[in-house]
Amino acid sequence: MTALDLHLTHLAHNLSVIRAKLKVDTRIIGVVKANAYGQGVVPIAKKLVDEGVTYLAVAYVSEGIELRAAGIRCRIMVFYPQPENFSALLHHCLEPALYSPSVWTQFSKIVQQNHIPDYPVHVKFNTGLNRIGFAPEDVNWLLEQQQNTSLEIVSIYSHLAASEESKPHSPTRLQWKQFEKIKAPLAAAYPKAWFHLLNTSGVFNYPEWQMDAVRVGIGLYGYANHPEWDCQLKSVAALRATIIQIHPLEKGDFVGYNHAWQAPKKGLVACLPIGHADGIGRQFGHGKGSVWIHGQQAPIVGNVCMDMLMVDVTHIDCQPGDPVIFFNADHSLIEWAQTANTIPYELLTGLSNRIPRQIHS
Ligand SMILES: *Cc1c(COP(=O)(O)O)cnc(C)c1O
Repeated sequence: MTALDLHLTHLAHNLSVIRAKLKVDTRIIGVVKANAYGQGVVPIAKKLVDEGVTYLAVAYVSEGIELRAAGIRCRIMVFYPQPENFSALLHHCLEPALYSPSVWTQFSKIVQQNHIPDYPVHVKFNTGLNRIGFAPEDVNWLLEQQQNTSLEIVSIYSHLAASEESKPHSPTRLQWKQFEKIKAPLAAAYPKAWFHLLNTSGVFNYPEWQMDAVRVGIGLYGYANHPEWDCQLKSVAALRATIIQIHPLEKGDFVGYNHAWQAPKKGLVACLPIGHADGIGRQFGHGKGSVWIHGQQAPIVGNVCMDMLMVDVTHIDCQPGDPVIFFNADHSLIEWAQTANTIPYELLTGLSNRIPRQIHS
């Protein structure tokens, strides 16, 4: 059987490591977008709420609705809401990040039509990532809205492009300076608003810029984009499977689709019930990626299939039914990501819902 074990005690550990880097009154926004980075959003979100996280954040309105449907009542920020979803967002008491005068105006209209006073919103500024956000020049426009609006600005934020790069890093410093410039007049006009800039690697690299809140995602799940920081955290997710069949191979036998691997000598190949439909992509195989069986590494061979992959176990004494580890708190996902030229974010969020999640609290 294939399973993704979720260790909630590791989540609590990671949260406490992050908290230890912050002042006591810095708010933590727990980022649970993309199914809590592929882990399984409901148990993760519930645990974060139990652990006293101030806010949860998701990318899209549909993700917020999923949390509400699961009975999660805490405040939820939506990073990338779109006007066609604004009514649904209101209906589920989600709080949008507004990112342009046009989006602000559209949202404001819907709030007025619904006669809601002081609807909580968050304001996102672009300071150099050039992804989404108000332009720094829009500060005056925002100040003018103060008179006649039914929106209440809860927080104002920006996002760093390279918070993990080693210091000093001038483009990152420029982004911070730009944000400080934006902050001064807005903090005066909106004294209750809180300001935030940092994601996970930002917390590790620039705790001095924590301001009133931080938005942490990957760190909660045990990764922080730098070996020195990664080693302070524990992977929440652990991926395992069991061997379902073992075949003897003669020298020269081929394995898998398109004969992509040929046995260099007499040996054994084991089939595992997990494939690219589960999130172990076709970038693996061909010498990339190996699993752990009885403490030894077995390389993935040939092309990864949709539902299966094959590993070379010539050198390992093993049987069908034996356990296989892909990654866990001791066998890092980071090596997996590196061999496949990707990052933990992509590997984790790619783990499909076909893999059953087993919660360990
Ligand atoms: C995803 C996201 C985060 C979390 O980033 P991590 O690197 O996972 O901590 C923070 N802020 C914004 C705007 C995001 O989209």
